Amino acid sequence: MTDRLAGKVALISGGARGQGACEARLFVNEGARVVIGDILDDLGQRTVEELNRGAETRRAAYVHLDVTKLEEWEQATATTEATFGALHILVNNAGIAGQRVSLEEASEEDWQHVIDINQKGVWLGMKAVVPALRRAGGGSIVNISSIAGLVGLGSSIAYQATKGAVRLMTKTAAVQYAAEKIRVNSVHPGYIDTDMTKGMDAARRERVLGLTPLKRMAQPEEVAYGVLFLASDEASYVTGSELVIDGGFTAQ
Ligand code: NAD
Repeated sequence: MTDRLAGKVALISGGARGQGACEARLFVNEGARVVIGDILDDLGQRTVEELNRGAETRRAAYVHLDVTKLEEWEQATATTEATFGALHILVNNAGIAGQRVSLEEASEEDWQHVIDINQKGVWLGMKAVVPALRRAGGGSIVNISSIAGLVGLGSSIAYQATKGAVRLMTKTAAVQYAAEKIRVNSVHPGYIDTDMTKGMDAARRERVLGLTPLKRMAQPEEVAYGVLFLASDEASYVTGSELVIDGGFTAQ
């Protein structure tokens, strides 16, 4: 363990599994205390048990959090402050992929569902947490977008729309809260080996790897280290920026 997040308290949405769980693990290893919020309650509890195993004091806690509900965000924020005394870092990580169909075939229900979680959820998270960051004297918000927020991938129209929106919501929040020492940045992963991508068929996988200069998918840790940097005081002059972690996908 090193101390890149010593004394910090973080709230990570969608932290029961995948990249969010990996970020929680890394944050705890770097001295932070972490609250995971998710709708997968059993898995989230197990992830937290694993994070607390062997620790002398409690390092992690779980809250039920559906990111589409402001009252659940407010409850998660209050629980974080009550459990660990403050809140310095928000990682808006929860997200879903939506239907992989053309825009003609996409349904209004799927559109709204993806917008509610990936876009409205990120806004509600910032809205609920900013007062706590202000109480802490400042903080860092890291919003997980995607390369789908930078370039057209031909995937779900709603997914692309939401990830593009996250990029610009990040920049406007960065401008609005800079004077209060609240930094806000977005992260743009390429193809990462998690549950979200495990259903990719062989042909799509081959096409994606063919378009990725590093010729492989990333492990969640390779994104988590970028999130860690932006969350930490090492990034004290970084706000409104976009960190692309994509094996070179958008470089060409
Ligand atoms: P994942 O499916 O393993 O994790 C997503 C998490 O979000 C899950 O724990 C899920 O339960 C949670 N979640 C979904 N709906 C929720 C809701 N309403 N409220 C709270 N939590 C909810 O996938 P992942 O790859 O770990 O995805 C994490 C983030 O990274 C997402 O925002 C995703 O869009 C983004 N991303 C993923 C990839 C990739 O290739 N895997 C690439 C770019 C961006």
